[in-house]
Amino acid sequence: MNVHIKSPGAATTRYIARRHGMLIDGKWRQAANGAVSQIMDPGLGKVIADVPCGTGADVDLAVAAARRAFEDGPWRMMKPNERSKLIWRLADLIEHHADTIAELESINNGMPVAVAKAGHVGPSVDLIRYTAGWPTKLTGETIPVSSPGEWHAYTLREPVGVVGQIVPWNGPLMMAAWKIAPALAAGCTIVLKPAEQTPLTALYLAELALEAGFPKGVFNVVLGGAEVGAAMASHPDIDKIAFTGSTRTGRSIATAAAATNLKRVSLELGGKSPVIVFPDADLSLAIPGVASGIFSNAGQICTAGSRVYAHESVFDRLVDGVASAAQSLKVGYGLAEGSQMGPLISSTQLERVSSMTAQGVREGASVVTGGEAMESDGYFYKPTILAGLNPQMSVVREEIFGPVLSVLRYTDDDLDGIARQANDSPYGLAASIFTQNLQVAHKMAARLRAGTIGINRHFVGDSAMPFGGFRQSGWGRERGREVFDSYLETKAIASPL
Ligand code: ADP
Repeated sequence: MNVHIKSPGAATTRYIARRHGMLIDGKWRQAANGAVSQIMDPGLGKVIADVPCGTGADVDLAVAAARRAFEDGPWRMMKPNERSKLIWRLADLIEHHADTIAELESINNGMPVAVAKAGHVGPSVDLIRYTAGWPTKLTGETIPVSSPGEWHAYTLREPVGVVGQIVPWNGPLMMAAWKIAPALAAGCTIVLKPAEQTPLTALYLAELALEAGFPKGVFNVVLGGAEVGAAMASHPDIDKIAFTGSTRTGRSIATAAAATNLKRVSLELGGKSPVIVFPDADLSLAIPGVASGIFSNAGQICTAGSRVYAHESVFDRLVDGVASAAQSLKVGYGLAEGSQMGPLISSTQLERVSSMTAQGVREGASVVTGGEAMESDGYFYKPTILAGLNPQMSVVREEIFGPVLSVLRYTDDDLDGIARQANDSPYGLAASIFTQNLQVAHKMAARLRAGTIGINRHFVGDSAMPFGGFRQSGWGRERGREVFDSYLETKAIASPL
């Protein structure tokens, strides 16, 4: 394992060591009950900071601040082009501090620092800039009504109100950016809760939002775990919850939202995304595509390509190629030179990945490579490939959220039959297709039940492309134009003339 550790920059070290607070109504505060929780570096398995650990009382304060900021209108009533400028300024500030933010993300989440910078900070800046252009374009319509007489009928699109945003630990900055940028563009006010494991970049983002000049109360950050998230989901004065995380937690958020005030809910949940490799696939694309589809972020990505269906004629060559890619991956500490894959987020997650893999082996899976944790104080797991599978096995059906790939062989040449296997899942987040035949690619894309489909590439993403899941992978879409559907209410107005 790669242990040659480069020291973080002085600004990063200073930031981690300072006293952290929650941002409520433009001020940094400790938890109302004074509680703190410890933040870990998962690559070293050691505590690096204390942060406040909130409760429902802190959520109440943050929601009250967001409500005042919404109703009093400094944000909602601000001219759209002025809102754009502030959002763009936030993107500039993130870009200016990209090195520090990337180091913080790497230290707190474990991802290699180069990945944090190019794959998380950069795309967050891009997404925020893309979204900054939208406030001036969120328009209603005029409607040609058919009722008797002459009418003037039109719609207005208005911000939904105070939004609670709950994000996970696997892409802490990027998930926060995806949430806050469209809510701000729509004129909503925000209470953001980062995951309890990874609050540092969200706090840094909040500090930059203060510097950018957002009015107080527009963007609040509360810290804590399930208790704080649950207090948000059941809060009577939050108008909408946007959540990214597990399907289990998404279900409980939807239930709590329904039981209190029927707040709007958008959910971006789990996946078990299939990768289909056809006999004519260009293996020089398919092998690295499959490998990066599962080993990026140590498999802790909701769209990870964790189930491969490879035609029997290419199966052995594909599996050999992905296995050698797995074995040559530089697994190591995020700040170590050249690391390509970091640790899992926590000892809990390491145990979960280990036990799910062991369960697969008990059910009959064979380990092609990996299949165990690495010797380390951090939470490293070897890039793993499991074969000898059947569609009923738990490692084929359940999301593992680790660097564990399940490979299945198919013999069928019928596209409907292949699609049936790929679609045999409660999830529907992403899928990819490797073939050189355009007809096969697009016919297959039409048959797959998933929100994002890549052709000859597993991860496809762009700030302008909508993202979200079919079935139990979620409700609604983020990014692109469609994200605004979940942050705006439509008001229909008509007058007989
Ligand atoms: P994981 O189990 O992998 O940590 P979760 O879906 O539980 O994933 O966590 C994602 C986010 O949801 C985190 O910010 C977490 O604190 C929050 N969360 C966890 N449980 C609840 C809950 N019951 N209600 C609301 N938010 C929750």
